Amino acid sequence: MNTNTNTNTKPKTKNNTKRVVIKVGSAVLTDNNNIAKERMLNLVSMISGLRKTYDVILVTSGAVAAGYSTLKLDKSKQIGKKALAAAGQPILMTAYKKKFDIYDIDTAQILLTEDDFDSRKRTKMFQEIIDAHLTHDILPIVNENDITSTPEQQFGDNDQLSAVVAHATNAEILVILSDIDGYFDKNPHEYQDAKIFKTMSKIPEQALLDESTPNNSFATGGIVTKLKAANFLIRHGRKMLLCNGFDLSAAESFLLENKHTLGTLFLPEEEAKKSSESASKKSAENAIKKES
Ligand code: ADP
Repeated sequence: MNTNTNTNTKPKTKNNTKRVVIKVGSAVLTDNNNIAKERMLNLVSMISGLRKTYDVILVTSGAVAAGYSTLKLDKSKQIGKKALAAAGQPILMTAYKKKFDIYDIDTAQILLTEDDFDSRKRTKMFQEIIDAHLTHDILPIVNENDITSTPEQQFGDNDQLSAVVAHATNAEILVILSDIDGYFDKNPHEYQDAKIFKTMSKIPEQALLDESTPNNSFATGGIVTKLKAANFLIRHGRKMLLCNGFDLSAAESFLLENKHTLGTLFLPEEEAKKSSESASKKSAENAIKKES
């Protein structure tokens, strides 16, 4: 990612609340070539709850899948995919609007490409747009503008886009909601004995070079782009939680109760050290209490 996300000009935050970026992938939002409406409603309901504590920015996939519900074009062809995305974007936004209306939440749509972060000036413009939305209590919904852009101008996946958005907007954390519980030592859809990593502060170089392995025909990223997003954020001193988007309890308990139940938490090395020091201090204190 070659982006200029300098955050020297810190964005203003409404009532000093913390910011969180939530990214939801096609695997969660799509069901049988259609928008998975119930899952979308659960997500919207969670966001409505989060907004009491956080300023929320949503990064969403799902436009190509939504387009496919009315237009049966070949999404493996460049023009087919662009035409589907163009047809699907309003369908996706209408579906969101209907659900956010239930909670009286106004939304705004921001379509971006990697080019939008290629200078401080453009990054600042993006930060100011987000600030304007958040200070007026509007939920920004971000997606990649892959309709008129060339491959060179694109992130190519919303995982890396959401990491750049989280950094540029000075978010506390990026939460990626996918169809898996987190990052495993091998693909959990192929290996029953795959083990989840609870926390991670260094991503193995090789894992970043692996081939993309999306689970869904509308997905573009797979685990590799999620690891690239995590790598970008921890190198910039930020956190990322990769967790399940079908069952939102892990995301909710982490964000609202500060409890890490499930999901992989990617932490900058310094923070990982601190939290393991405080965990071993706690267990030593508990051992002393038991003895006395
Ligand atoms: P999304 O649409 O949510 O972005 P993707 O299908 O692009 O989801 O990526 C998630 C998929 O990555 C999982 O469903 C899984 O099949 C695959 N995957 C490959 N290796 C791993 C791994 N080591 N840990 C977790 N998921 C993995």
